[in-house]
Amino acid sequence: MKLTVVALVLAAAALAGQTRQPASLVVVGRSVITQNASREILSPGAVAINGNLIVDVGTPEAIGGRYRAAQTISAPEQIILPGLINTHTHAAMVMFRGLADDLALMDWLQKYIFPAEAKAVSPEFVRIGTRLANLEMIESGTTTYADMYYFEEEVAKVTREAGLRGVLGQTVIQFPVADAKTPADALARAEAFIKTFKGDSLIVPAVAPHAMYTLDRATLVAAAELGRRYEVPVLIHLAETEDEVKTARTEHQATPTGYLEAIGFWGPRTLAAHGVWVTDEDVQILKRRNVGVSHNPESNMKLASGIAPVGKYLAADVALGLGTDGAASNNDLDMFEAMRQAALLAKIGSRDPTAVPAQSALDMATIGGARALAMDRTLGSLEPGKRADLITVSMSSARQTPMYDAVSHLVYVTRGDDVRTTIVNGKVLMQNRQVRTLNRTEVLAQAKALSQKVRDAVQ
Ligand SMILES: [Zn+2]
Repeated sequence: MKLTVVALVLAAAALAGQTRQPASLVVVGRSVITQNASREILSPGAVAINGNLIVDVGTPEAIGGRYRAAQTISAPEQIILPGLINTHTHAAMVMFRGLADDLALMDWLQKYIFPAEAKAVSPEFVRIGTRLANLEMIESGTTTYADMYYFEEEVAKVTREAGLRGVLGQTVIQFPVADAKTPADALARAEAFIKTFKGDSLIVPAVAPHAMYTLDRATLVAAAELGRRYEVPVLIHLAETEDEVKTARTEHQATPTGYLEAIGFWGPRTLAAHGVWVTDEDVQILKRRNVGVSHNPESNMKLASGIAPVGKYLAADVALGLGTDGAASNNDLDMFEAMRQAALLAKIGSRDPTAVPAQSALDMATIGGARALAMDRTLGSLEPGKRADLITVSMSSARQTPMYDAVSHLVYVTRGDDVRTTIVNGKVLMQNRQVRTLNRTEVLAQAKALSQKVRDAVQ
């Protein structure tokens, strides 16, 4: 009798062993910050990935019992969290990092950035700049980014090679720029770009009308229609400065948000960057139209643009993501720093230390950003069925010791340099800080060589 029981148990164990599901990769960490609806944290925890999808999240024992992993990344001292989502940047502008600082937005744009772009921006510039930006993103834990720039097809090719996920917007602007002589050229370019990349596993093509103050009404409407026709995102700068509000009031007797509402611009796949100068009514318009908002605290502080009413957006349940903006106005692409500044700026702005707690800042950089980009069904949290975009972060530096609360540490003391592993779509882009998809030495050398041309262009 006893022997039979033992035999049965052994047979069951063998069967369980045989029926373990295949997983291409299992990542085991000290904690898994899932960012799921209940903000569950598993300590310790593991994430099972098969192909490009997360198939399970659980304790290391449970995952080990259920999956046969082709590869395991064991990071028992590290925190696993969803890859960070940068909802607003201009990647190639890393080439203008530190070129002109300490200026107001209009001076900065009109005296430095637009002239430098007119002379320096080329497909090669965009390739080299985007590669450098992508290297910085991989090294600092960003797995998805929304971009607005020129020669966006070059951005897309580089991003795909780097292995990052990109919502990439071809810029449409009224005046002649490097890749388009007229807004009509720019719109045609955007349409061709969308057709080429629609359906790509990493690239979501988009159209990026620059702003209401740099485009006429017909072009704004045409850009919005293009987005609707192809069901792709529309990315725009909105109400970044008080000057923009003055322009809108003088020329259109409305706020920037109200003007765009009046011309039928807003749609559900629209992302508005900044949204600093908005009225309560504007916030309601953005909520009603399901517009995502990208908060860019560092750029807003550096250009002294103002303090976005984050509390009002959150109270109105507007989909709110976080962005770095281009490196020329930040001056880096570190989303950990953006989280910290978002929390600090909201506190001083409202004179309320409870405003934007660490969890809210982390939400903006993960699930909030996914929602703002209308991608929260596939991104932004570590849950079965979602894309396998995740990072591991070391928590062993002096700066991070001791640790009582991982979420507090992620927002208030962690830096991009603490990221150890970056995984996008199930593919390991960086392990133990070794980037696999880009040749670091070559990327940096090319950017340094190109910086001489940029210097010449502004002299
Ligand atoms: Zn911007």
